Amino acid sequence: MLRCVNLSLSYRIPGPFWRKSTRVFAVNDVSITLPPRQTLALVGESGSGKSTTGRLLLGLETPDAGYVMLNGTRLPKPGTRRWQKLRKRLQLVYQSPLAALDARMKISDAVREPLAIHNIGTPQERALKVGAALEAVGLTLEQSSRYPHELSGGQVQRAVLARAMVTEPEVMVCDEPMSALDVSVQAQVMNTLLEMQKRMRMAILFISHDLRLVRQIAHEVAVMYLGRIVEQGPTELVLHRPLHPYTRALVSAVPVIGARGQQRIVLAGDPPDPSRPPNGCPFHPRCSLAVDRCRVDRPALRTSAEGQSVACHVAEIGAEASR
Ligand code: SF4
Repeated sequence: MLRCVNLSLSYRIPGPFWRKSTRVFAVNDVSITLPPRQTLALVGESGSGKSTTGRLLLGLETPDAGYVMLNGTRLPKPGTRRWQKLRKRLQLVYQSPLAALDARMKISDAVREPLAIHNIGTPQERALKVGAALEAVGLTLEQSSRYPHELSGGQVQRAVLARAMVTEPEVMVCDEPMSALDVSVQAQVMNTLLEMQKRMRMAILFISHDLRLVRQIAHEVAVMYLGRIVEQGPTELVLHRPLHPYTRALVSAVPVIGARGQQRIVLAGDPPDPSRPPNGCPFHPRCSLAVDRCRVDRPALRTSAEGQSVACHVAEIGAEASR
């Protein structure tokens, strides 16, 4: 079980000439839990803090505040020996499969490399593990003896998954893993990922802007806006009955087969400058439901009895969960 509590990460951006530097929050007070065999999808526009949250969960960034726990133990500081030992239990799958692999390394060698780095098994055991990982993702022996540029995009992404799974991680962060693939290949890679999860009890953080994929894979969804979670809950609830006006706009942009007269909600303007976030609710400049209170008072997350949380003053959540 991976859990992060009140995670925040900010950067200082130097101001021009005599002006002071400004502090920009990439992630602000984010708490999430990833149980084994579950998939949590993080969704939101570019720059909402999804990828940075994923990197913080893996210990690839050091938070300013908050902490990450793996099975009840706090993650040590990145770069330390204890942290390096934990690395094999936490893996990352990048957006661009070709960039994730060394172009000069054959696929089988690239899949074997993490075992050597983490000193796992004898050479014979490593060969068995590599064979099993390649078979699990559906790559043949012949394909594994090629270089990345000699394979299709879907095959390379499956090789990346084999490399990530060969150490049998407990948590995998998949950062837009399908965005560079054709729709038909996306389905194959998605099935591979689900199969791996079933077999290895792995928890997945699935970062995506594609709600069609999220609907297929995620048990829970968390929606991020300007570094904060604004809505979170079971996928069926959040995608079928979104409570936050921002989530409603995201969901309305996904065409539903057979839904006649589906109305798309077009958001006004661009996301605000993160170095000068609006007062009150950060979504208020784009929100058609904003009331006076929204301009001064930032809404806290409230959770319904069904487990759907929303940060909005006007959202009706029915009975609230008792705390
Ligand atoms: Fe819109 Fe106000 Fe809700 Fe923010 S708190 S989402 S501005 S209605």
